[in-house]
Amino acid sequence: ITTKIAALPPGTPYFSLEFFPPKTPMGSSNLRARLDRMSHSLRPLFVTVTWGAGGSTADRSMELAELCQRELGLTTCLHLTCTNMKRDMVDRALEDANALGVRNILALRGDPPRSDYKDGNGNGDGGAEGEFEWAVDLVRYIRKGYGDYFCIGVAAYPEGHADESHPEGQSLEHDLPYLVEKVGAGADFIMTQLFFDIDAYDRFEQRLRDHESGLFKTLPIIPGMMPIQSYQMIKRTTKLSHAKMPSKIMERLDVVKGDDEMVKKVGVDIVSEIVTHIKNSPSPQPRGFHFYTLNLEKAVSFILERTKLIPCSPTDIECAITEEPLPLPL
Ligand code: FAD
Repeated sequence: ITTKIAALPPGTPYFSLEFFPPKTPMGSSNLRARLDRMSHSLRPLFVTVTWGAGGSTADRSMELAELCQRELGLTTCLHLTCTNMKRDMVDRALEDANALGVRNILALRGDPPRSDYKDGNGNGDGGAEGEFEWAVDLVRYIRKGYGDYFCIGVAAYPEGHADESHPEGQSLEHDLPYLVEKVGAGADFIMTQLFFDIDAYDRFEQRLRDHESGLFKTLPIIPGMMPIQSYQMIKRTTKLSHAKMPSKIMERLDVVKGDDEMVKKVGVDIVSEIVTHIKNSPSPQPRGFHFYTLNLEKAVSFILERTKLIPCSPTDIECAITEEPLPLPL
């Protein structure tokens, strides 16, 4: 991913699309058709495939990564969580990714470690007792086992991280030392949680760029964008992710909340305005955007067209990078 970003002509923006592995054969065949269409018409710089916490989607995530990387020829980034997973599951995921030619891993913690973690056989030495407590442990583990073979991304939270283990007190200042640790351990890029508060994002990016460590001066920081698919969905998602919905934006959605088509239309306006604002602000790196597609096509396509993020010719993204599997580490 970072090689492709570095190869972009100066000032050329890019975007990535996120997909999750469907649960049913019908869902898979629908997604396959959609991915085929989207990759040709939208031409993302790369796609990402989510990973179910604790490895719950391991096989399906790998199948989807194989479809993206091998069959559709898309540069693919596999999300990988490390808590509540035994070390051999992490090893298998990395080996499978390597064998598929997937060279990018988004290294994540996943759910907070459970002290009662047990594997399928009732053995309980993974999770909290294992070596993976935080995402940084996974970054270190990958670097130790695979050197520079994988390009590693890590998550960041413009409004501070929060989950069920500590929903209150989220703040960037609390997270910052740990983000510094992840980048210091070898992360190559940052991908953010979704947000709608553009001021919070601006402050976050500036804080990182100005950080005294110098680690973030030119590091790709890719903001996460959530297209608005429906009124209920966006209320639920912002609540779950603890993202603040500024009242001015909520008011625009409240006015049309009874009309699904209008919600989508206003949603496209809102996200396009956020993208345009960020795209037009100065950056030491080409501007990139990550879209949480929820496997849906329309809203993201409208936003990409509106904000002129679709590369004009397929050759813009055809920086061929050899993706030969490496011999497995010992
Ligand atoms: P970490 O970087 O480990 O941080 C977690 C929290 O712990 C933060 O509050 C941090 O400040 C704190 N912390 C870190 N290190 C320490 C330390 N040493 N001591 C004390 N506190 C510490 N989840 C999935 O299950 N599957 C996915 O596919 C997935 N994809 C995601 C993609 C993106 C772009 C993002 C932003 C999140 C994604 N998540 C996914 C969610 C993620 O797993 C959760 O948000 C998780 O709770 C935190 O993961 P992290 O990698 O940020 O953890």
